[in-house]
Amino acid sequence: MKNLLYVFVFSLFFSCKAQTNLTTQTSQETSQEAKKELNTTPKLVVGIVVDQMRYDYLSRFYSKFSEGGFKKLMNQGFNCKNNHYNYIPTYTGPGHTSIYTGTTPKYHGIIANNWYDKEIKEMVYCAEDENVKSVGTEANAGLMSPKRMKTTSFADENRLFTQMRGKTIGIALKDRGAILPAGHTANAAYWFHGKDEGNWITSSFYMPHLPKWVNDFNASETAESYLKTWNTLYDINTYTESGADLNTFEGGFKGKETATFPYDLKTLSKENNGYDILKATAYGNSLTADFAIAAIEGEQLGQDTNTDVLAVSFSSTDYVGHNFGVNSKEVEDTYLRLDKDIERLILALDAKVGEGNYTLFLTSDHGAVDVPSYLQSVHIPSGYFDSKNFKSKLNDFISKKFGASDLLENASNNQIFLNRERIALLGLDLQVVQEALVNEIITYKNIDKVYSATTMQTTDFTSGIEELLQNGFNQKRSGDVLVVNDPAVISYSKTGSTHGSGLNYDTHVPLLFYGKGIIKGSTLQKTVITDIAPTISALLGTSFPNGATGIPLDFVLEKQ
Ligand SMILES: [Zn+2]
Repeated sequence: MKNLLYVFVFSLFFSCKAQTNLTTQTSQETSQEAKKELNTTPKLVVGIVVDQMRYDYLSRFYSKFSEGGFKKLMNQGFNCKNNHYNYIPTYTGPGHTSIYTGTTPKYHGIIANNWYDKEIKEMVYCAEDENVKSVGTEANAGLMSPKRMKTTSFADENRLFTQMRGKTIGIALKDRGAILPAGHTANAAYWFHGKDEGNWITSSFYMPHLPKWVNDFNASETAESYLKTWNTLYDINTYTESGADLNTFEGGFKGKETATFPYDLKTLSKENNGYDILKATAYGNSLTADFAIAAIEGEQLGQDTNTDVLAVSFSSTDYVGHNFGVNSKEVEDTYLRLDKDIERLILALDAKVGEGNYTLFLTSDHGAVDVPSYLQSVHIPSGYFDSKNFKSKLNDFISKKFGASDLLENASNNQIFLNRERIALLGLDLQVVQEALVNEIITYKNIDKVYSATTMQTTDFTSGIEELLQNGFNQKRSGDVLVVNDPAVISYSKTGSTHGSGLNYDTHVPLLFYGKGIIKGSTLQKTVITDIAPTISALLGTSFPNGATGIPLDFVLEKQ
């Protein structure tokens, strides 16, 4: 009996102990689950914008890319192959803003790079701010801030969410490429001041003086080291994905007769604004990658549990495209070298933040059209729009029709701004004047469509060019008449490429997601540029940018 009781007590004790063990195990599992759940947010989000990158560059140059750059992002991340801009105009300022705010100029207000300000009646630049000071230069290149951007970026929302503990750093050769993505609450945006200085600078909007790591970088003469000969990375004869090096469709540099490799940048820099020549070569991107890699260390990005945001924009691709055109050997070489720079950036992120600890996306701010003079040579409808002649012709029409020569106040970015005070003073009906202009301009050569501001405000367009125009139309800032050129018709020099339209060559851009929280895969389902910011916000669990109109792409995210 005694023994039995002993057995009973013993077994009771044992089973209790076992139960305790079980409970401990379960609670351990639960806390591990919770930890895992908390851990779904990356330590760092890296946004890469490649300025003027058409979607087809990914496929056109694919066979020449290395394994660790674009190909790695395409094959180990998620490739949205049918990603488009969903507004007009497709320019750098609006592009960078739309990527990070998840909305279009209709809401974020960055309607172009430079636009006519109806209130102060002069042209303004999207990132200029005369109330701040340059930091890192005596020149005016630092008088910049994001004040004209009306909505928040996903980086702003991350700052609010983390009680300002998660950092935001923006980097690009172009000030607007660094400032607009980084948003209103950024710790820093850095951009490059060329001329005879060749330094990375910022503005007093962010800080009173440059941090030590930026001064050290500027003192390292990295920029100077790129003032060397630019030749092709591989044997030029293997560059079968682009046209002949010598042709009539390219611009080139002052001081060199032909736009052909090699380019002696040290010598050419003297006639091409000193260090600014680097912007228009593949080395400008290398310099950007060097600086971004230094920033990871210098700003201690991705080192704690508060998610940081690094916004990097590679601007040189745009300068090279404008100068040499979509089909040039220079563009091909610039992308093959950028591929290597992106590989270096990924390796640095793996080493400093850790593979699997960061999420990266890569996209572009707009595409570009093939050089129209080249398209004409192969019988594809295209051409050049004479904007000077357009203005004087339109002024003649207005004078005859309304008896006043000063109604046309400004014509820029394919928009006409009317002098509304004069129209009111003359007792004219604004809508009647707008419609008269619409009916006149549509008869002009190379014009495809014309709409009035009144139509934009009173009609809800849900498809086609009209929807894109409406998404780009900001009632407060846009003009009275919106003009759409024929396909592949640009107001530009006869050499080089440009962009701005709502056609596929300008709207279709890469969208690659990679890293923490991203599944491997691809889709041909249409996505739009405004979906990027809500997707990143969803990944981070933060509020969406306050004006976001895109939707999170849940098929790129791991199920949580
Ligand atoms: Zn451009």
